[in-house]
Amino acid sequence: MDYKASDEIQSLQYFGEFGGVNPSISDSSTYTFLSAKTMFDTFEGNTEGCYLYSRHSSPSNLYLGEAMAQLEGTESANVYASGMGAISAVILQLCDAGDHIVCSRTIYGGTYALLKNFLKKFNITTSFVDITNLEQVEQAITSKTKMVYCEAVSNPLLEVADLPQLSKLAKKHQLPLVVDNTFSPLSISAAKLGADIVVHSLTKFINGSSDCVAGAVCASTEFCLALKDVNDGAGMLLGSTLDSLRAASILKNMRTLHIRVKKHSENAQYLAKQFQKDGLKVVYPGLESHQGHKTMSKQMNPEFGFGGLLTIDVGSLDMANALMELMQREKLGYLAVSLGFYKTLFSAPGTSTSSEIPMEEQEELGLSQGLIRFSIGLDNDIHRTYLAMHSCMEKLGILESNPAMV
Ligand SMILES: *Cc1c(COP(=O)(O)O)cnc(C)c1O
Repeated sequence: MDYKASDEIQSLQYFGEFGGVNPSISDSSTYTFLSAKTMFDTFEGNTEGCYLYSRHSSPSNLYLGEAMAQLEGTESANVYASGMGAISAVILQLCDAGDHIVCSRTIYGGTYALLKNFLKKFNITTSFVDITNLEQVEQAITSKTKMVYCEAVSNPLLEVADLPQLSKLAKKHQLPLVVDNTFSPLSISAAKLGADIVVHSLTKFINGSSDCVAGAVCASTEFCLALKDVNDGAGMLLGSTLDSLRAASILKNMRTLHIRVKKHSENAQYLAKQFQKDGLKVVYPGLESHQGHKTMSKQMNPEFGFGGLLTIDVGSLDMANALMELMQREKLGYLAVSLGFYKTLFSAPGTSTSSEIPMEEQEELGLSQGLIRFSIGLDNDIHRTYLAMHSCMEKLGILESNPAMV
């Protein structure tokens, strides 16, 4: 693959007003016009490079949007106040009342709740399918279907979607393929693999410092402009606009995304291998034992690895809770939801980020109560981390007879 997203992001240069190496931050909600005529033309969308009001666009948000478009290799990108702000705008832009969505059954809890519960208001229904079963995906498509939606690497079970195949299928039915690529920025270039619209929660790896909430939609210029339309754009009218100061700080963090992703992946790969040797039930796409390993290997950008997320199953919720509390006391990470932080974060998805999914459905999906999701941090000495985690597991009797793998 000759497209190098990380190089494209690095090559974007915007200078500040006084020659600063970072672009100036647009510290205004509204913009003056020299003539009344230009203001009217801007409202009509007939002027380029003119700003009107910051809910529509602002220079700082456009800079971050351009970096996101480079990340995915799309024509354009809009940024939003959260990942859910981006996802809800896309869905409401594409669907009218009574429409239908085909969606992977393993997705982020918030997205699941939006599709399953909230959209009932508009009589928009969703068929949740096994996204790795193309026949099942195709059978779910009806005359009312408006999109096929999935996550490139799913939350929390790390299922890998075959994006080229799904794209082919979606095209056959003239449907857009919408992909949430939050778990695998740089590792998977979703748009290059055939996604028509890529959504991201910037809150996670892309910002990487767990200090804000933000999102993005990467797509064609036509779709991005439609979202911003003053008359019927879901982005413009639902109002989930990102603040300019935040957009500027996220852009600065994005400059180091390639280094961070490599380190998160390297550390997660190491721990997954060791845990597997210890006889634990580990799920990590970088392990050959993982169901999606081949699919991911085919479509990934290898230098960025298989990502920073892994799960282990320790048998019961009580055991999961005891282990997480002990690891936190030993300073190995934080018992917290979210991902992409420098420090390892762990949580039990069944009772936190996926609690929106009813218990019976969780069981069907293989989302067991003893499951712990790890977002592996940027630890400098991951072997030392492994030994300390191993010792926590031994203390709780999770590993009984397995000595640490040195
Ligand atoms: C966190 C997350 C979201 C939601 O993003 P917010 O920024 O919290 O609104 C959507 N999809 C995935 C895969 C996520 O992990």
